Amino acid sequence: MRNLADHLNMCSVNTATLGFQAPIAEVIEAVARHGFGGIAPWRREIEGQDVSGIAKKIRDAGLKVTGFCRSTYIPGATRDAFLASIDDNKRAISTAAKLGSDVFVLVVGSLKDIAAARRMVVEGLGLLLDHAASEGVKLALEPLHPVYAADRSCITTTAQALDICDQLEPSGMKQLGVLLDVYHIWWDPDVQRQIKRAGQGSRILGFHVNDWLLETKDPLNDRGMMGDGVIDLQGLRRAVEQAGYRGFVEVEIFSQADWWKRSMNETLETVRARMVSVT
Ligand code: ZN
Repeated sequence: MRNLADHLNMCSVNTATLGFQAPIAEVIEAVARHGFGGIAPWRREIEGQDVSGIAKKIRDAGLKVTGFCRSTYIPGATRDAFLASIDDNKRAISTAAKLGSDVFVLVVGSLKDIAAARRMVVEGLGLLLDHAASEGVKLALEPLHPVYAADRSCITTTAQALDICDQLEPSGMKQLGVLLDVYHIWWDPDVQRQIKRAGQGSRILGFHVNDWLLETKDPLNDRGMMGDGVIDLQGLRRAVEQAGYRGFVEVEIFSQADWWKRSMNETLETVRARMVSVT
């Protein structure tokens, strides 16, 4: 397993971790100044702005864009809503390319009729593949913890995400892979086997770290800093790296009542220390 003390250049900061408290230019500068090698911005910070200019700022700061977050939910209550979401996601994929991101992160959404939602996700992904290929962007399907099955994601396990990859790309990885976030996969009794499977198919497109607080107050916006919760971070990172993953380790912490209230400097210093000590 890589020693992250020697690989801070392979550690990335998902900008949500910093609570969107500063303009993207300041965030880029702060992330670079703390020695990280990557950054993963969100659409809310980028869309409607000078995307090429932001891309240049990121490059000039010596950072790599490790992902662009995230998709518009794919399932729709009507056919028109579904097709509108596909168009919107195509535009976001083009923005990801312009930003210099190899990866567009897909949080797929859900519906009360979860079976219908799952069918729409498979169809929708199929409609996005050619566009993603023409833009040179890979689609990273992020399975979410089942607590979000009603709204944020009808894809709740790594196995399910990989099954969809295999269904849409039966002859092997081209455009579609998975993003493994410890917050969503740590509890899964099948996780080790599925990480191995993802690696064998060269489908691991990203790895997010944070922690699950034992007494979490909110499963959405009360994520913990690495080391403050119950996740076997090193066990999961070892599995991902043994499966062949050599990409970035990206911190992603949504923490309304705690980390988002702290300064960017304090959060980034803590992330750097915890990357080395417990991740
Ligand atoms: Zn994530």
